[in-house]
Amino acid sequence: MKNFFANLMMAISCGTCYGQDAGTFELMKLPYAPDALEPHISRQTIELHHGKHLSTYVHNLNKMVAGTELANRRLPEIVASAQGALFNNAGQVLNHNLYFLQFSPNGGGTPTKEIADAIKRRWGNFEVFKKDFEEQCMRVFGSGWVWLAEDEEGELHIMQTVNAGNPVTRGMIPLLGFDVWEHAYYTDYQNRRADHIAALWNIVDWEVVNCRYVR
Ligand code: MN
Repeated sequence: MKNFFANLMMAISCGTCYGQDAGTFELMKLPYAPDALEPHISRQTIELHHGKHLSTYVHNLNKMVAGTELANRRLPEIVASAQGALFNNAGQVLNHNLYFLQFSPNGGGTPTKEIADAIKRRWGNFEVFKKDFEEQCMRVFGSGWVWLAEDEEGELHIMQTVNAGNPVTRGMIPLLGFDVWEHAYYTDYQNRRADHIAALWNIVDWEVVNCRYVR
């Protein structure tokens, strides 16, 4: 990849432009109704997760970045270079923008187009990939994320990040991210993280994942 940030900006703008603009960040608008992902994610969870958790991260990010040397940088650039509380809030804004945009009530099924071929090349078939991804989700201790990410050679990886971490900090482009913080599933699934993770495959929008994938 010749220009990591150019590719990254292109990847995260898939569907909408969230994350591209510098300056004051806004709460991303969901591309579906709050109850559209039921029964896999309930309206109540969407309203809490997007309307409360993400909204707070956006508010904190704007407050913390103002007046710093990163004030006029784009979101992924802030995530790539910030530390401490600013990193945590910027990271969670980027993570959740990617998260909410990758789902659709018309999603699910098996991967399509180029990402289907790339998954097949790396894992043999989708079922092996899914099993590996789900195992990584179960292994996260505490709060974190599991990602399908693309390295600078265009190779795919499944990776865990703790707390607000994103593949961006390791020079990789995030293609698909599952949130394994308890706030993502506790209302609907209580402690049954595995059931929540298994349900998410029903709403993954592979068109968006394909759009993020830099060929
Ligand atoms: Mn979350």
